[in-house]
Amino acid sequence: MLRFLFATTALAGGLILASCSSADEAMPETNAGAGIEAEVTSASGPAMVAAANPHAVEAGLDALRAGGDAIDAAIAVQSVLGLVEPQSSGLGGGAFLLYYDAQSGDLTVYDGRETAPATATPELFLDLNGQPLGFVESVLSGHSIGVPGAVAMLAMAHADHGALDWADGFDAATGLAEDGFEISPRLAGFIAGMAPRGPLDEWPASRDYFFTDDGTPLPAGHLLRNPAYAETTRALAADWRALYEGPLAAAIIDAVQDEPRPGGLTLTDLAAYQAVRRDALCRDYREWTVCGAPPPASGGITVNEILGLLEPYDMTATGPDTVEGWRRFIEASRLAYADRDAYVADADFVDVPVAGLLDADYINRRALGISRTTALPTSVPGIPDGVSEPGADATPDSPGTSHFVIVDSDGDVVSMTTTVESVFGSHRMAGGFFLNNQLTDFSRAPTDAEGRVVPNAPEGGKRPRSSMSPTIVFDRDGEFVLATGSPGGSSIIAYTAKTLVGMLDWGLTPQQAIELPNVVARGDIVRVEDGMDANILAGLAALGFTLDANRGENSGLHIVRRLEDGTLIGGADPRREGQARQP
Ligand code: GLU
Repeated sequence: MLRFLFATTALAGGLILASCSSADEAMPETNAGAGIEAEVTSASGPAMVAAANPHAVEAGLDALRAGGDAIDAAIAVQSVLGLVEPQSSGLGGGAFLLYYDAQSGDLTVYDGRETAPATATPELFLDLNGQPLGFVESVLSGHSIGVPGAVAMLAMAHADHGALDWADGFDAATGLAEDGFEISPRLAGFIAGMAPRGPLDEWPASRDYFFTDDGTPLPAGHLLRNPAYAETTRALAADWRALYEGPLAAAIIDAVQDEPRPGGLTLTDLAAYQAVRRDALCRDYREWTVCGAPPPASGGITVNEILGLLEPYDMTATGPDTVEGWRRFIEASRLAYADRDAYVADADFVDVPVAGLLDADYINRRALGISRTTALPTSVPGIPDGVSEPGADATPDSPGTSHFVIVDSDGDVVSMTTTVESVFGSHRMAGGFFLNNQLTDFSRAPTDAEGRVVPNAPEGGKRPRSSMSPTIVFDRDGEFVLATGSPGGSSIIAYTAKTLVGMLDWGLTPQQAIELPNVVARGDIVRVEDGMDANILAGLAALGFTLDANRGENSGLHIVRRLEDGTLIGGADPRREGQARQP
């Protein structure tokens, strides 16, 4: 049972920072002395893994079958995903992980976001004339590579919660890397699409891994071996610090600093990396409490702002088959995205008005816009009390990433979103894995046209803003209800919010909620995925929305929900190749 939930009504606006580490620390001061003890949840309930690839799901299930904790399974899932779904996440990337410990009731956010090199300046992505660099010069460049954080983050979470040996988490990945795995259709599509995206020939390791000698991309079904990856997972199994110090770290830095377009990351940056435990950002929504990751992730704030904006409205009465239901979802998304774009960045470096954005009075003022019957003319950020208007953000966006959920038989939950940022990250490899291009999640321009500083500007040691939205929902008794999340760049927030409204308000199963067409309303254009009912599209257009309809959307939603009788049901996004399965 989540202990801090008993404090929710005592805090203004229902915003709660769920503290980490121990049950005692999890009690906010406002709740001190309330005399509420955590219930000890008994072991051996149902378990489940929902992830984007069957090999990864199987590895996670094997860890659970061996008596592993959800975090042991997460290590197995991540190390296999980095091999079989390298376009999305891996050992060279970063992640945010929400961990719910059923026995203590603690909820902890583990922040494994990449950091910029100590020497990075706000001009990181500007050319000599002060103009933003193009795609190849910024993304497919050493400049974009931050210190990979996923491995350090998993090691920290394992030290806190692991039941199996750390090394066991790499067995499945090592075996698959040595024996080979069949390239999936989705991976084959990205390999074929890789060459035209940039000068792949510059990077022999990636070229040799994915192409024949005559330059033909390897097809789906090809048995791919990756001995370098096996060597890496062996080294990490022996000591996770092998990624941050020693020969593997040196190989990473060689790849970063390789010509052309060398980056500034150094061995000192790698050695200095720290994963961070953070307070989860939780807010009440109707009869539930919705928890997500705080800055530098924008997911926890923005998903909760969308829900807060919808709360005054009876969403159950306006279901997914109504124009009105989608109108409200669109307007709430536009308002919350505008705030997110304006204010959210690494709160260790800039002031982020987290409490102001989620304050009940502020949200109620913002929600007045939704009471209209026609489309809001534009989507501009609000200004929470006591906050000055920041510079206009110029952070670009590109899809990659993977999300998975694990519930173990003790009822512990992992909700983890993990990324190398763009497809295959920077395209540069070391140790059999791809290096991220996460630093392009900073605003390319550090100031706006009026010279105002942009909160998400690059800076030495800073973490770029993320859209990742790993989410866990609890009921009013503090019992786990569901965990959800998705890849998809800034659309992650809309994809995740859609599933929450779908399940909590519209009564859908996880799978039905995943399969609803994605609707992404950021800025003045509303993207609507193929499959939306024509009458809804016509109705939205008649209200004055500018629609970009019948398009594909790159979500990869994975969900596990616990029903009242304790049964687990899951959902896997058919837009990807995943599964939700029990051991
Ligand atoms: N790098 C992005 C972020 O952290 C995610 C990219 C994606 O989902 O494709 O927000």
